[in-house]
Amino acid sequence: MRFSNTLLLLILCFLVITWTVRSVPPQPPVQCDQTGCTVSNTYGVWPNRTNCKAAKVAYPTTEEELIKAVAYASEHNLKVKTVTRFSGTIPKLACPSGSDAMLISTSKYNSAIEIEPDQLTVTADSGVSLRELIDKVEEAGFSLATSPYWEGMSIGGLVSTGSHGSSWSGRGGSVHDHVVGINLVVPATSSKGYAKVVSIEEGRDVKLSIEKAFKRSITYNFTSDVALEDMFMEHGKKFEFGDITWYPSRKTAVYRYDLRSPDDVSGNGVNDFIEKVLETSKSENGKCKTADTTLAYKKLTGNGLKNNGLFFTGYPVIGTQGKLQSSGSCLFTHLHLELISLARGTRDITVFHSMKRLRYSPFQEDSVVIDFNYYREDDALTPRLNQDVMEEMEQMEFVKHGAKPHWGKNRNVGFFGAKQKYGPNFEKFLEVKNKLDPKMMFSSEWSDEILFGRESSKYDGCALEGNCVCSEDRHCSPSKGYFWRQGLVYTQARVCRFSSAQV
Ligand SMILES: Cc1cc2nc3c(=O)[nH]c(=O)nc-3n(C[C@H](O)[C@H](O)[C@H](O)COP(=O)(O)OP(=O)(O)OC[C@H]3O[C@@H](n4cnc5c(N)ncnc54)[C@H](O)[C@@H]3O)c2cc1C
Repeated sequence: MRFSNTLLLLILCFLVITWTVRSVPPQPPVQCDQTGCTVSNTYGVWPNRTNCKAAKVAYPTTEEELIKAVAYASEHNLKVKTVTRFSGTIPKLACPSGSDAMLISTSKYNSAIEIEPDQLTVTADSGVSLRELIDKVEEAGFSLATSPYWEGMSIGGLVSTGSHGSSWSGRGGSVHDHVVGINLVVPATSSKGYAKVVSIEEGRDVKLSIEKAFKRSITYNFTSDVALEDMFMEHGKKFEFGDITWYPSRKTAVYRYDLRSPDDVSGNGVNDFIEKVLETSKSENGKCKTADTTLAYKKLTGNGLKNNGLFFTGYPVIGTQGKLQSSGSCLFTHLHLELISLARGTRDITVFHSMKRLRYSPFQEDSVVIDFNYYREDDALTPRLNQDVMEEMEQMEFVKHGAKPHWGKNRNVGFFGAKQKYGPNFEKFLEVKNKLDPKMMFSSEWSDEILFGRESSKYDGCALEGNCVCSEDRHCSPSKGYFWRQGLVYTQARVCRFSSAQV
């Protein structure tokens, strides 16, 4: 009986998904017409909801063409930004300054993937997509030790923003910690032809270390969230690729038991992680009810794992690293905790539970990445559900505990005071940056704002979008009942809280 109900539900889900999902490839992020070019990101809106403009775009296919493009910009004193065919970044990092700027797209710079089996390395053009790289490496009998959970990004883009998977083992979960060589094309003097290649170790574009192909074995344990704050350290140490997803409203934690599996154990599992945003009702109760259904569905379907590539039939799900680490479905809505080791510049969290205590310590330690995935309204002035709670947690993380931002993900408030958080390494970074790009060709008002963590001028509703910390009611949404208030637990926080009494 239980089996037939499960089967029926699966068939229904399959039919609903087949009926509702239309596969429409996204538009290229750069669109040009007679007036110039516009760059958008994959989310369709930049944090400040303004457009990003440039005068022209170049599409190099080889390193020679790339050098020519940089030389042209350098000779003509143009501002430049690299754009990719994915543009998966939330901060406006890929946006150049001024409408006469030039874009260099890596969308056609993606032909070469060279594996050096003896050296256990792979070298790729920076426009190569993560999925293309994983497939090539696996075909040759190797695996990348780590990669982000989402495969729709370029190698250049993911390394530039410090993107990561989840691991405390070996070199850890950050892809840049597996980079063993990189070629940088930078501006040069006229005598050197206005552009040159700087090689950090040998390699064409991005060179990564690889390992002999391996398999993994994954089991999700949907259980109580009691003592989550005590268990996460042990969990990270015990499971090489472990992570924890926490559903506070359901008092549920989902522990991913994820380890290497012996090669001779059969299994052809894939990870097809699907989630949906359900926040339209604006009702907390409604959201909790849908969370129940979502959680039940995930439990039933192995959280997107498929034993044979088609269906989930039970744990453990065993498959190759290439099929289990990164997937191409959508990742949204929940709190996702990933364990990650950064070789340098790390932090650790000792406790996090119902906003009680969160602590990060700065260097040479294993760290925990906390993702809060949230809903963003089409209208900038519409607050989101539990706006104040999210803001309080954000300020608790970044201000009280000195968390470092994800360079491809955080809202602007996450970058305030970044300089202080990176200590002397920040100065070293600026030194190298100034040496490689003395005319600041690759800098923009957006990257400067983010890099130097400056809070730009405040405007009505700016706190709702994470573009400021509120210090007046108008930074929230008084017309919708959201006012400037102090935090409930972290009282130094300043948040936008709903007050029905004042509407
Ligand atoms: C659905 C989704 C899931 C995600 N999941 C994860 C995850 O699991 N883990 C994680 O860590 N991150 C994750 N991210 C964030 C993602 O890894 C970063 O946003 C990443 O930068 C996206 O790569 P991209 O190719 O789209 O780069 P873009 O967004 O196009 O570019 C990022 C930055 O890098 C610069 N850049 C790009 N290529 C080059 C180059 N060749 N040379 C110099 N500069 C360059 C750009 O100018 C820009 O500033 C996710 C993002 C999305 C949309």
